[in-house]
Amino acid sequence: MALAGLNVLLAALHECGVSAPPLTPADIEDATDEKGAYVLLVRLAGPLETRLPGTGRLELRPGWYAYCGSARGPGGLRARLRRHFRHDKNLHWHIDRLTVAADALAALPVPGGNECGLVQRLLRHPALDIAVRGFGSTDCRTCESHLLKFDGDTSRVAPRQPSELADSRKRGPDS
Ligand SMILES: [Zn+2]
Repeated sequence: MALAGLNVLLAALHECGVSAPPLTPADIEDATDEKGAYVLLVRLAGPLETRLPGTGRLELRPGWYAYCGSARGPGGLRARLRRHFRHDKNLHWHIDRLTVAADALAALPVPGGNECGLVQRLLRHPALDIAVRGFGSTDCRTCESHLLKFDGDTSRVAPRQPSELADSRKRGPDS
């Protein structure tokens, strides 16, 4: 099944108050051209080894990731998401390394929204946690990362690592 796990992830986002209908690459032209923020959902079928400018080697586990970004340029959310959905592009942003490797992509546009507010909202969910510190947030003073890993469909039984954010998050049944 092409988008296994997506519905579980969408349900988790809904619990966080992010419930826009998801866009896929097939219906990107229906997206709004308003400015705002978005949650980009990226699935890696296998482990991804890459390197980010200014950091060392990076290895990402397979599964779903949620990246919070903003679109404030010409063409708004439609133009930005169209670029994320393309596989042929120059690798400019951190997230480009994931989108070119992804086997499934979807996005929830939040017109008028703020990407850092989205990160804080999503981190309240016990199945969403920081994926890589500093990822996509090198210009951001409030977020540890703009890339979150979703563990709701795989390793919920694994003990979670304590983090500085633990006290600002609601506790899951297994923590
Ligand atoms: Zn931020």
